Amino acid sequence: CRDNSGALPVLGRDVTVPLVTGGEVTYAALDYAASAPALQRVWDDVAAYAPYYGSVHRGAGYLSQLSTDLFENARGAVADFLGCRADDQVVFTRSTTDSLNLLARVLPADCQVFVFETEHHASLLPWQDAKVTYLNAPRTPRQAVETLERALADRDPHGPALVCVTGASNVTGELWPVRELAAAAHAHGARIVIDAAQLAPHHPVDIRDLDVDWVAFSGHKLYAPFGSGVLAGRADWLRTAEPYLAGGGASRKVTRRADGGVAVEWHESAARHEAGSPNVIGAYSIASACRALTEAGWDGLVAREQHLIAEVRAGLAEVPQVKVLSLFGDDAPRVGVISFVVEGWNSSHFAAALSAEYGIGVRDGLFCAHPLVRTLLGSDPQTQGECGAPEAAPGEKSLNAIRVSFGAGTPDEHVERFVRAVK
Ligand code: PMP
Repeated sequence: CRDNSGALPVLGRDVTVPLVTGGEVTYAALDYAASAPALQRVWDDVAAYAPYYGSVHRGAGYLSQLSTDLFENARGAVADFLGCRADDQVVFTRSTTDSLNLLARVLPADCQVFVFETEHHASLLPWQDAKVTYLNAPRTPRQAVETLERALADRDPHGPALVCVTGASNVTGELWPVRELAAAAHAHGARIVIDAAQLAPHHPVDIRDLDVDWVAFSGHKLYAPFGSGVLAGRADWLRTAEPYLAGGGASRKVTRRADGGVAVEWHESAARHEAGSPNVIGAYSIASACRALTEAGWDGLVAREQHLIAEVRAGLAEVPQVKVLSLFGDDAPRVGVISFVVEGWNSSHFAAALSAEYGIGVRDGLFCAHPLVRTLLGSDPQTQGECGAPEAAPGEKSLNAIRVSFGAGTPDEHVERFVRAVK
């Protein structure tokens, strides 16, 4: 599965884009944190399966049976990838956002939710209908654990509670102390869900080893195509709650009642929350990506990514105008997601120039984590830094940042070009 540069082959490596300065160049996709290119292996697997397309759980024909098998086996592949417990459920969703909204919908009555203000909006916002406690941004991993412990100690110990926390930040790339936060949550009778949207593509995630209750991630960040995601973990809350969507596939038996209404018995399996015809290609491609990453071996993937991180950080450190954003400091363990601002530059213009002059695709903005980016930039939370808002004038504090992110398919040349371009 390895090409000459030691990276896993991904699609799009030969795509050329025009430069404003004339000519063209191969595209350097350095926005993996938004969406990673699909692995060639995933694409090949999907192409091999495509002729055998059939309805899932709804057909007697051979190809329907085959598709149903592939769909259900995909659950098994994801469960293996995440090291799920025997009685965990793997629910296929549309994305991490969808997975966390699903979990928010199955919370038991009176569940208290604890979430750091530093979360991505997908993990910050779905809990608004519950009793949410927003925790202030910690400045060290230890402080994160202590902040959570203090908040949990104050809660009613008898009611249900959920902690939601990111595994790796989509802004700083920094790893959060998931194992310690899980231990703190459990010590206080709370459960914990990990937003692994940025962790799973870069790092092994083992539900049992981390001792977490749920994990959520997206296919399109894990080198699979768009449109599918996963919520995996404890079955009990999922099994007893109302279905996320009402419809066929989620219902086991539907009858007319004597009073003229309709009575429904819902499935207790993952199908309860997967009403409608499922995204079989999405599930299949996630399973393919999980297998490909496992077969390639995490040790090599992580070592290679750490080498690229060191190269980018060393390059940025040589430019005095660059300020890298960090919550936990230089020594924090991190994945290949790095955000920065450049003194005297409008971040949006800077990102546009990287694209137009060097064929490099990065992201600018607040990265759907407005409170965190504002904290890191030190900007006024009430008035500044909205998505799409005008940037700071020259000499003023930046309102937006630039984010470069990479992973399994990134060749050395892309990060070398990026560092050269920034310089
Ligand atoms: N959580 C984190 C940490 C993310 O980086 C993202 C995507 N930027 C999401 C959640 C949401 O993922 P999706 O858009 O695939 O739902």
